[in-house]
Amino acid sequence: MSRQYIDCREFPSIMNCSVALSADDDQELLEAAVQHAVAVHGHTDSPDLRKQLASLFKPGTPPLNVVQAKTASA
Ligand SMILES: [Zn+2]
Repeated sequence: MSRQYIDCREFPSIMNCSVALSADDDQELLEAAVQHAVAVHGHTDSPDLRKQLASLFKPGTPPLNVVQAKTASA
């Protein structure tokens, strides 16, 4: 299993969160992502949420900087 990550910086709609999570196992990453989504973003743990989060996983590790469509805050 190769390393995967999910990066809140790629989703500027959600409260400017800059947390990125990574793990070697997609189940570990999903659990961490669900906990983060519930605790920080106020989501409800559900099969739909888990499916949505899992679809956002990317291979590798979080980059130092994320290039977004909008300009970075100064
Ligand atoms: Zn977040």
